[in-house]
Amino acid sequence: MLCGIGWKRTRLLYCLLAAVFLLAVPQPGIFAQGPVLDLTEAERNFIQEHPVIRVGIDPIFAPFEFLDINGHYAGIAPDYLALISAKTGLRFEPAKEVPYAEAQERVLAHELDLLPTLGWTAERERNFLLSQLYYEYKLAIVVREDSPVNNIDDFRGRPIAVQGNTSNADFAFSVLKASLSLYESEEKAVLAVSDGREEAMLGYLPTVVYLIRNLGLSNLNYITFDSDINKGFHMGVRDDWPELRRILDKVFSSITQAEKTEIQTRWILLSDSGERWRIARVAYAAAAVLLVMLIFIVLKIYSHRKKIARHRQNEIDLREMVSQRTEELQNQTRLAVEASRAKSAFLARMSHEIRTPMNVIIGLSEVLLQRDLPADASGDVLNIKQAGISLLSIINDILDFSKIEAGKMDIVNTDYMFSSLMHDVENIIKFKLEEKPLEFVTNIDAGLPSKLRGDMVRVRQILLNLLGNAVKYTNEGSVTLTVSGTAREDGKILLSFEVADTGIGIRQEDMRKLFGSFNQVDPQKNHGIEGTGLGLAISQNLCRMMGGEITVRSTYGKGSVFTAVIPQSVADKRPFGQRAKATEAAKPGAEKRNIGFTAPEARVLAVDDSKVNLAVIESLLQPYGMNIDTCQSGEIAIALVKQNQYDLVFMDHMMPGMDGLEAASEIRRLEGGSSIPIVALTANAISGMREMFLENGFSDYLSKPIDLAKLDKLVAAWIKEDLKVKNKPD
Ligand code: ADP
Repeated sequence: MLCGIGWKRTRLLYCLLAAVFLLAVPQPGIFAQGPVLDLTEAERNFIQEHPVIRVGIDPIFAPFEFLDINGHYAGIAPDYLALISAKTGLRFEPAKEVPYAEAQERVLAHELDLLPTLGWTAERERNFLLSQLYYEYKLAIVVREDSPVNNIDDFRGRPIAVQGNTSNADFAFSVLKASLSLYESEEKAVLAVSDGREEAMLGYLPTVVYLIRNLGLSNLNYITFDSDINKGFHMGVRDDWPELRRILDKVFSSITQAEKTEIQTRWILLSDSGERWRIARVAYAAAAVLLVMLIFIVLKIYSHRKKIARHRQNEIDLREMVSQRTEELQNQTRLAVEASRAKSAFLARMSHEIRTPMNVIIGLSEVLLQRDLPADASGDVLNIKQAGISLLSIINDILDFSKIEAGKMDIVNTDYMFSSLMHDVENIIKFKLEEKPLEFVTNIDAGLPSKLRGDMVRVRQILLNLLGNAVKYTNEGSVTLTVSGTAREDGKILLSFEVADTGIGIRQEDMRKLFGSFNQVDPQKNHGIEGTGLGLAISQNLCRMMGGEITVRSTYGKGSVFTAVIPQSVADKRPFGQRAKATEAAKPGAEKRNIGFTAPEARVLAVDDSKVNLAVIESLLQPYGMNIDTCQSGEIAIALVKQNQYDLVFMDHMMPGMDGLEAASEIRRLEGGSSIPIVALTANAISGMREMFLENGFSDYLSKPIDLAKLDKLVAAWIKEDLKVKNKPD
């Protein structure tokens, strides 16, 4: 991966690049190399006295010497001069202002010092001090491609183009015996051949190749040959400076082959070496492009690496922040949990401690109330007792709530009679109803199972809370308890307890606060109503612990409906009573009773302080078609017996105020009362009860929950035969 390259590797890459760069660029420093010159004192003195040598130049004699487009003196000869400079310290100054035609004259006149590109002629040998041959070349005759001439001997006596005032002109004339057509430069002579003005031209091979390539003259061909007398260039020194010629010769002798090759490859485009130069140029260009690309890539990698490093740092910082924050939050949560536990533990301990003296207060108030106290004292004690009871209920709420919060509230599952649950609930709520002109309506599905398995105490607590609230927050109208059940696939029954009231209702915005702890909503309306704001929170929690839920709907000012749904296991699925509606009696379950008769003329009285129980007995007796009166106290029962002629009385045992035993004995004392069959109806089923009731004036005994077969047997036994209307067999 590019971004994974380490810094060390990047540095290595830089070094490689530098190496490529150094190799790709030609090295001028090579001029400074070679054997050290062994100069005489005279020569060294000469150099000291003549540090600047003035050079006569041919400005258009490429590639040997010329002025480039920037006016710089360039070419093979200037490179040799540079080499001489490097080795001797002499400085060569080109006399650019002097035309080449004049240059030789000037050297003769000692106005210039040196001519660097002289081919050998006898005349030059006489006029100048010629150095040794420092650069060798071949000669070439240029012809057009379609020319029949291919041999130098063919030019004898024929015209040939040549640059004037050169050794070539001399050679063409004296050796080839050609007729000369003189041109100012070799370039002009080559062009003349290319465009057909001349048949052939004679020139130096390097110049010819250089010109053909540079001018793009594709229609030309050339013949090369060696000349004995015109083999290459000498440098021509003014005739009074033999020291300079000696210095030059020493330098030329010291020039290495590498130095010569370098100068050659730089300027000469001779066949393969020219090609090499072209390839080298392409290679240099490619290397340069490659270099740029590599630098670009390296910079990219570097910046990418920096970015990654930055991101990594950010990530590390972020992780550190998150872990710090998490630790803080964990600490805070731990502290909050500890605080909550401490609070719950404190509340639990405190409520438990208060409960004990509260029980004493309530218990002793009760004991006092049993005594004969003066009327005002008895009122005070009653107040103490009631205040104690309400304080105890608050403490109980707090204790329950703390237990739930601390996770210490357990659900205890045992078998229980559904009728007992309903009975208890009704009995307790009845006392609360006494203080208010409210109707209490119950609507309980008689088909619900008689025996359930679950935590009856907690179910009862929930129901009492919902009913208690309904009574508390309703001033007139009614409170209705509707109980129904739905069988579930897992064999359990989902009980639905719906408590509807016609009370003050709850505002929509207060709904979600209802189940919060210590929340009392609508404080203005609820002013003066006692409560901790814990009841619903406890009930909802208990409900959920049992797998149920409490929901509420309400219309502000009109009333509320709280519904608790609670799943319970079924221990005995036989119905706890019959459905209240007469039509339901036709159902298969009812038919199985096969009661054999009806008694439409018979009149029955059922006495029970529990409305639920009354509803149950009423519905169980329904198939007999008898007239059934009900009442909830002994006193009313006596009044009713006085008014009506009853054929059978069902009397509950334990009732507030006058109990069943008392009421029965009162009835017996009434006129005609001794002959009325009175059946004791009681949940007290311990042995010896039957005897006790019979001794106390009862005619018979039936325990709750009511066994249908026993009831039918009892009705058949006690309803007089003349009141019975036999049922037709099916
Ligand atoms: P409290 O002990 O105050 O009754 P609860 O948790 O049982 O506490 O009820 C919370 C609040 O919900 C009550 O203070 C009351 O404002 C409101 N509330 C509960 N039941 C009813 C209802 N049947 N009708 C109107 N408001 C009710």
